[in-house]
Amino acid sequence: AALRRKGEVDVKGGWKVGEPVLYAALTKAFSLIEATTKRLEKTAILTSFLLLVIQRSAKADHNSLLQAVYLCINRLSPDYVGVELGIGESLLIKAIAESTGRSLSLIKADLKREGDLGLVAMNSKNSQKTLFKPKPLTLPFVFSNLRDIALTTGNSSQAKKVSVITKLLAACQDFEAKYIVRSLEGKLRIGNAERSVLVALAQAVVLAEKEKVGKKWSQEKLTARLEEGANIIKAVYSELPSYDKVIPALLEVGIDGLRDKCKLTPGVPLKPMLAKPTKAIGEVLDRFENKRFTCEYKYDGERAQVHKLEDGTVDVFSRNSEDMSKKYPDLVDQLPRCIKESTKSFVLDAEAVAIDRLTGKLMPFQELSRRKRKDVKVEDIQVQVCLFAFDLLYLNGEPLLQRPLYERRELLRQYFTPVPGEFDFAKSSDSETTEEIQTFLEESVKDGCEGLMVKMLDSDASYYEPSRRSVNWLKLKKDYLAGVGDSLDLVVVGGYYGKGKRTNVYGAFLLACYDSESEEYQTICKIGTGFSEENLQAHYDALKPLETTKVRGDIKVGGAKPDIWFEPKIVWEVLTADLSLSPIYTAAQGLVEDRGISLRFPRFIRVRDDKGPDDATGPEQIAEMYERQALAQSNGKKKKGGD
Ligand code: ATP
Repeated sequence: AALRRKGEVDVKGGWKVGEPVLYAALTKAFSLIEATTKRLEKTAILTSFLLLVIQRSAKADHNSLLQAVYLCINRLSPDYVGVELGIGESLLIKAIAESTGRSLSLIKADLKREGDLGLVAMNSKNSQKTLFKPKPLTLPFVFSNLRDIALTTGNSSQAKKVSVITKLLAACQDFEAKYIVRSLEGKLRIGNAERSVLVALAQAVVLAEKEKVGKKWSQEKLTARLEEGANIIKAVYSELPSYDKVIPALLEVGIDGLRDKCKLTPGVPLKPMLAKPTKAIGEVLDRFENKRFTCEYKYDGERAQVHKLEDGTVDVFSRNSEDMSKKYPDLVDQLPRCIKESTKSFVLDAEAVAIDRLTGKLMPFQELSRRKRKDVKVEDIQVQVCLFAFDLLYLNGEPLLQRPLYERRELLRQYFTPVPGEFDFAKSSDSETTEEIQTFLEESVKDGCEGLMVKMLDSDASYYEPSRRSVNWLKLKKDYLAGVGDSLDLVVVGGYYGKGKRTNVYGAFLLACYDSESEEYQTICKIGTGFSEENLQAHYDALKPLETTKVRGDIKVGGAKPDIWFEPKIVWEVLTADLSLSPIYTAAQGLVEDRGISLRFPRFIRVRDDKGPDDATGPEQIAEMYERQALAQSNGKKKKGGD
């Protein structure tokens, strides 16, 4: 199908081998992808486009494919470098007005009607009469301009940005203005998740290899090869999430050589392994029956992936792969004291926890969140942190992901030394009975932790699984035992004006979960509880700039009617009494029943700065929670009935 679609994706006149990719070809592919809801078709279209890019690139040109992939996932650099777009609505409206000669008020009125600034830009451009056809935009030109816009800071940066955007828009034809504006907004809205882009990339490379050597494969062989390629790329990328490294390697050594060429590398943060929630110790024992496992304290701090390179550089990365070295200069300073001489390079998985150095007592996350987030000076630090290491993923030139946890833990203890108040190993107990686990859990809570993490210790089931929420790691929080269930991380998508004491701020909010399959936000509840007055003011300040004129197309609203909509950016952790089926909200619709699922009595816990909207709880997790709850209720009833 991808080969068939190649002609469809190409642009009139094409572009020749060795010439820069035309931006029109990319936007043509985007519009075809947007026009279909079928996942396989979306991937096939993207595969065709990437195949064209590979086949028309000059031999040593890695940049064309790299830039094409970046624009497909709407990023300009790896996450940890943090070159980001996300230009505000008002700036874009100004640039559209300047490049088309239309008035601001007309553009705003169109936006109110259409709800999509990209579409408004395209229609504004296409209704304009032009004497001369502008020179075609090329992909490298657009990419470097977008990067310049993202990197412009300081005095009069707004004006500079508007001027570059205006020039870009002036050169746009056909679909180009629509997608340039959406890229600038930071959301493409073509329904293509990064996972599908990885699959398309793998398929394009396999097909290019096949065509190049004129291989004749049966349909089965081709299908198997495409699937194998996709699995290899996904595995490699989860270990080394940097297209800057993976794409040149892919073009150089092909799919088969990729695993050897691209391995976990200090300096490039990998996506962390995540845990599944469990509600009772009995459930832990059921899951890990007859297996060796360990229980560790679940510290209440912030995840920190600490990298040390051979040259002595130390980097601290967040759960989201953001560079936190400027937030934790004290951790960077402390680190050399806990490393043995033979420890040259490593990647640690750890939790940074606020600590009272005088008493050695651990402090809750709220204390840690009082620290400044950027440009912290060691001498100004009030809240001290201790690093609790629970895993070692790389040591002295060797990735350890595919070693059992007990071996990784051995090496961790061998190559690092605890320093009181600064560095320690996560406290663990390889207990096996309900009583032992219960005692350890109570101890962890008494020591200021959230509960336990229970991890498989032996065999390949205990390998480190980057970016996976794995059944081989279970979290047992004290809250679950009280029957409240796990907390959810939800995106704030709407606001309700406050009444009474809350008139100058939003009084309640509309929350949504995020479906990474369909790339849409699904509404889940209205929340107005758990906020202090200070909280509400801070939320107002953070959310006000995110107000949008109309609800975005990727928010599945259902019957919710907030007074105002927000760009989905901010994530909150929320607890709920229980979940119920709802005729209003759309979360997990179709997974349990036709109706969606909603939270009853949701309560705000905290802002999750370390999570982006794409990391919010997904509909499957919500459906799973609902089903567990239904099961627990029916078991409870049975018990009461004398079962
Ligand atoms: P999730 O995406 O799983 O919901 P989260 O960031 O919301 O993750 P939790 O669900 O509370 O956090 O649990 C996982 C987190 O617990 C890890 O990301 C890590 O920050 C923290 N943690 C504390 N102690 C440990 C430990 N011993 N092992 C692993 N993680 C730990």
